[in-house]
Amino acid sequence: MQSSQLREGNFVEYEPVIGLEVHAQLETQSKIFCGCSTAFGEEPNTQTCPVCTGQPGSLPVVNRKAVEFAIKLGLATSCRIAPYSLFARKNYFYPDLPKGYQISMYEYPMAVDGFIEIMVEGKKKRIQLIRIHMEEDAGKLKHGETPETESFSYVDFNRTGVPLVEIVSGPDIRSPEEAGDYLRKLRSILQYLEICTGDMEKGTFRCDANVSVRPKGQSVFGTRTELKNMNSFRHVERALEYEIRRQIALLEDGGEVVQETRLWDVNQGITISMRGKEEAHDYRYFPDPDLVPLRIDGKWIEEIRKSLPELPEEKKERFIRQYKIPEYDAEILTSTKAMANYFEESVNFFPEPKTISNWIMGELLRELKRDEREIDQCPVTPKHLAEMLSMIKEGTISGKIAKDVFEEMYRSGGYAKDIVKEKGWVQILDEGEIKKAIEKAMEANPKQVEDYRKGKEKIFGFFVGEVMKQTKGKANPKLVNELLKKKLKEEK
Ligand SMILES: [Zn+2]
Repeated sequence: MQSSQLREGNFVEYEPVIGLEVHAQLETQSKIFCGCSTAFGEEPNTQTCPVCTGQPGSLPVVNRKAVEFAIKLGLATSCRIAPYSLFARKNYFYPDLPKGYQISMYEYPMAVDGFIEIMVEGKKKRIQLIRIHMEEDAGKLKHGETPETESFSYVDFNRTGVPLVEIVSGPDIRSPEEAGDYLRKLRSILQYLEICTGDMEKGTFRCDANVSVRPKGQSVFGTRTELKNMNSFRHVERALEYEIRRQIALLEDGGEVVQETRLWDVNQGITISMRGKEEAHDYRYFPDPDLVPLRIDGKWIEEIRKSLPELPEEKKERFIRQYKIPEYDAEILTSTKAMANYFEESVNFFPEPKTISNWIMGELLRELKRDEREIDQCPVTPKHLAEMLSMIKEGTISGKIAKDVFEEMYRSGGYAKDIVKEKGWVQILDEGEIKKAIEKAMEANPKQVEDYRKGKEKIFGFFVGEVMKQTKGKANPKLVNELLKKKLKEEK
């Protein structure tokens, strides 16, 4: 996004600089430093123990599975896995943090120097990943919601100690749209790896954004603000758009951007100052004396590398090669594992990849979007879709009617064959029947017939339309064209 304004004859064009910090919850069975369950939605404070509630004398032990998941993500994003990493205490007070510090990583993160690729104006753009580190989640505060409890606040420690990875991007993102694409790509990698559900509404995938603006061409960064409290992709994009406009307006008024943390207020659609931005030294980080440093064995890294599934980028390249579909299609079809699977299964049943791709990207995604459903909740299975496409190919139904058939399949979950039979949507291939419809259309429009015969051939389409009307859209278009041409010319 850019903004510009004429000032004293100078044209100032601003460019936003955005970096994102994502917290992703790792889908392990137990917490990061104790054996408590990570199951979501249980009774408050039923999944706690002396370790995750910070009792004196309790000792944390790191969860091997969580480390493995973090390494997986590091490898999948082309990071270097650090042979040595260290847990550190990040000290601060908040009622949802029973220990008075959060165990995180500071000087020695797990993985560094990777990247994620997004498409910008049809070209690949690399967004650098500065670091990926592990840390524990805090608890959850609940402020009294009923009249009797409104003056109380409650704390639930079930979430305390749930494993997270924090993924910090470089300041490489130049628009809210790029930020959205980056987040979608990152989430898709996490989901392909099956290490995080990526659900922003449930908070298993959270994003904070650092954003500043600067006159285009200037290499020094402007003062940045940090945005919090955005719990959907849409909110991230909207909050960034707002904040960029706010900063530009400030600068153009001769003001200054203050470094601070701002909250996105979704109801008002604005960002609100929350607190001055804290610096790292405010947290008094130091190595956690209760946890030994992590030494990651090279052999283990190689084992994990071998176990990685096909990732979105590789799958996309393979789809282009194997199915000969355009890059645009492949990008969309591989954006989730479920959609890629849907596509490949459908192609198995009906080996015309481009036709399948068109139906998925067109009718199918339109219906899903309207119902806010994911593709794995789609009532039309790949087999059902393939059956319907075969009916078009065999000429049983027309491509036009197929759209209605699809909608009906989606709504009722029924089979194409049954729907077509029940609704009487079978395509008319009988020449006699089509000829009858043509005759009727011609009798009803003698003037147009005369015009056509005098050479006004452009009105041919009009007759096609009339015949289709007569047959309720069921006549085979190819036959209609052939027979109509003959008929209009022969009877002189
Ligand atoms: Zn515990």
